[in-house]
Amino acid sequence: MSEINPDAIATIIADRLQKIRNQIPPEVKLVAVSKYTTIAAIRAAYNAGVRDFAESRVQDAKLKQSELAALTDITWHMIGSLQSNKAKQAIAQFDWIHSIDRLSLAEQCDRHISELGKSPQLLLQVKLADDPNKSGWSESELIADLPNLAKLANLNIVGLMTILPLGLDESQAYDVFSRLGELAVQLRSRGWHNIQELSMGMSADYAIAVKAGATIIRVGSQIFSGYS
Ligand SMILES: *Cc1c(COP(=O)(O)O)cnc(C)c1O
Repeated sequence: MSEINPDAIATIIADRLQKIRNQIPPEVKLVAVSKYTTIAAIRAAYNAGVRDFAESRVQDAKLKQSELAALTDITWHMIGSLQSNKAKQAIAQFDWIHSIDRLSLAEQCDRHISELGKSPQLLLQVKLADDPNKSGWSESELIADLPNLAKLANLNIVGLMTILPLGLDESQAYDVFSRLGELAVQLRSRGWHNIQELSMGMSADYAIAVKAGATIIRVGSQIFSGYS
C-alpha cells in the first residue's frame, strides 16, 4: 500500500475523509494528525480539503512545514507533550497548541509569546481519569491553578483538550468526554469566557466525542493508515 501512486493515495484518502465528515456536523473542526505520515499523504489530504494538520514533535513538524511551505493556508496544531525547552519553538511554529499540560509550561509560553510577538490559540490539557501515561491537569488541580494562570496575560487560552485512557467502553468514554464539557462550563462560570473549544476524540472514539460535545477532533490513523 505504501508504493507511491499519487492517484491511489488521493482517492483513498479523500474517501476516508468523506466517511469521517459524513459522521460529524460541519461545525466540528477535523484536525488531521499527520505525525506518522508522509508528505505525499498530507498533500492528498490537503487536496481533499483539509487545512488543519497536527504534529506531536516540534522537530518533525519543522521538516514537514518547510516541505509544505507553499501551502500557506495550512493551520498547524501541536498535540504532543512539550518539554519546556521546546516551548519557544512551539510558539514560533504552531497556530494552535493543544498540549499545555502544566503551569510551568504555561508560564514559559507566556514569556515566549511576548518575546516573539506571536500568540497561538492554546488549549489546556486535562486528565480526567488516572492514567500514568498521560499528562495534564486533573480537574481539581486546574481549578487550583486558575489564579496563577490568570496572571499570564499573554496567553490566548481558548479551550480544553483531553486524551481518553485506554480500555473504556462506549458509555464510559461518553461520560469522560462529557466531563470535559462540564469543566469548560464551570470555567466559563468563573470568568474564563474564552474557554469554548473542546479538543477530544481520536480515530477510535471521535463519534462518541462529537456526541459529547467535541468542537475539534484529532484523527490520524483513520485517515493515514498505510501511508507511514
Ligand atoms: C496520535 C494522536 C492522535 C491521533 O490518533 P489516531 O488514533 O491515530 O487517530 C490524536 N491526539 C493525540 C494527542 C495524538 O497523540
